[in-house]
Amino acid sequence: MKKIIILGSTGSIGTQALDIVRANPDKYQVVALAAGSNAKLIETQAREFNVKNVALFNENAAAELKLKLADTDIKVLSGADGVCELASLCCDMVLNAIVGIAGLRPTLVAIDAGHTIALANKETLVTGGEIVNRKLKEKGVTLLPVDSEHSAIFQSLQGAPTGSLKKILLTASGGPFFGKTSNELQNVTVKDALNHPNWSMGAKITIDSASLMNKGLEVIEAVHLFGVPASKIEVLVHRQSILHSAVELSDGAVIAQLGTPDMKLPIQYALTYPERDMCFESLDLFKIGALTFEKPDTDTFRLLPLCIEAINRGGLYPTAINGANEESVRLFLEGKIKFLQIAELNEKAMNMCENKTDFTVEEIFEADKAARKIVREAVL
Ligand code: NDP
Repeated sequence: MKKIIILGSTGSIGTQALDIVRANPDKYQVVALAAGSNAKLIETQAREFNVKNVALFNENAAAELKLKLADTDIKVLSGADGVCELASLCCDMVLNAIVGIAGLRPTLVAIDAGHTIALANKETLVTGGEIVNRKLKEKGVTLLPVDSEHSAIFQSLQGAPTGSLKKILLTASGGPFFGKTSNELQNVTVKDALNHPNWSMGAKITIDSASLMNKGLEVIEAVHLFGVPASKIEVLVHRQSILHSAVELSDGAVIAQLGTPDMKLPIQYALTYPERDMCFESLDLFKIGALTFEKPDTDTFRLLPLCIEAINRGGLYPTAINGANEESVRLFLEGKIKFLQIAELNEKAMNMCENKTDFTVEEIFEADKAARKIVREAVL
C-alpha cells in the first residue's frame, strides 16, 4: 500500500487522483487531504477514504469543517500553516495539486520531510525552482512531474543517456482562441475563455491556456525540471493534444509520448513510477487521422514570449509575472478586466519587478505580493 497525501484534493487534478485511488483500493491509502475552502467536498472525501487528517487554508471553512466532522476522530488543521503541517505527515508520497504560488511552501515542507513529490502545482517551480532544486539535491528527494507535457518529456527521457538531451519539443493545444487576431480578442468573455477545446481543468489554468500564459509557465517549469535553457525548448501548437511533448536527442532521434487528452495517465504515472498500471482509454490513431504542428502566434499571445523573457532574465522575474498573472486572471474571472488586459498588466508588473539574483523564500513572497499590488492599483 502506498500512503499518499493529496494537497488540492477538491480540484480538477485532486479529484482525478482520488478516482485513481478509488479504482485501486488495494494499492493506495490516502492519509491526508488539503484544500482551500471547499468544506463540503473535503468532508465527503475524508469520510469516503477514511482519512485521519484534513486541512483547509480558509480559517472559516476549516471551522465549519470541524463541526461537520465532529462525530469522527479526523483531525482538522487550518490556514497556510495547517496545510504545511499536513504536508509533513508520515507518507510515501505527496501529490501537490494546489493552484497558484500557495503550493510553494507545502512543496518545500514535503521535501524537508523527505517525501517523494508528485508535482502538478507548476507555480512551485516557476517561483521557487532554484530553491526547490537545491533542496531536492540536499535531501535526496525525488520530484515527479504531473503536468502532462512534463510527464511526456520525463517519459520520453526514460533510458536516454545523461547529456543526450538536445532539445525539448513542448506542445500546446493553442486553446480556444487559436487563430484569432488581437482585434477579435477585444471583447471575448469569461465563458469564451473557459471553453477549452480538449482539456477539462480548473478555471485558472484554463484561462492561462487561452492566453498561452500556461505555455510560458510550462517553459519555465521545464527549465527547472530538465536543466535546459529556454533556448532549447521549442513550443509547437498541436491542436489535437495527442502528442503530449517530445525530446530530440543528440543523434537527432525524436522520442515522444502520445495518448488521449486525459490527465489520469500522467497522474497515475507519477503515483506508480517507475511501474505502469491500468489503461484508461487506448489511443486510436486511425480515428485521430492526422497530427498537425504549427508555430505559436507570439505577436497576439504575448504572454508566451514574456515568460521566456522572464526566465532568461532570471531572479525574481518569473515570480513577478506569475504573481501578476494570478491577480489579473482573478480580476478577469470576476469580470473586472478584459482578456487582453491580462497580458498588459502582467508585462507592466514584470517590468516593475525589483530583481534579486540570490533570494530567499520570503523574498519570493514579497515579489509576488508587489506584483499583485501593481496589477490591483493599475485597475482600481
Ligand atoms: P483547481 O482550481 O481545479 O483546484 C485547485 C485546488 O487547490 C483545489 O483543491 C483548491 O481548494 C486548492 N487550493 C486553492 N488555494 C489553496 C490554498 N491556499 N491552500 C490549499 N489548497 C488550495 O486547479 P487544477 O486542479 O486545475 O490545478 C491544480 C494545479 O495543477 C495548478 O497548478 C495547475 O496549473 C496544475 N495543472 C492542472 C492541470 C489540469 O488538468 N487541471 C494540468 C496540469 C497542471 P478549493 O476547491 O477548496 O478552492
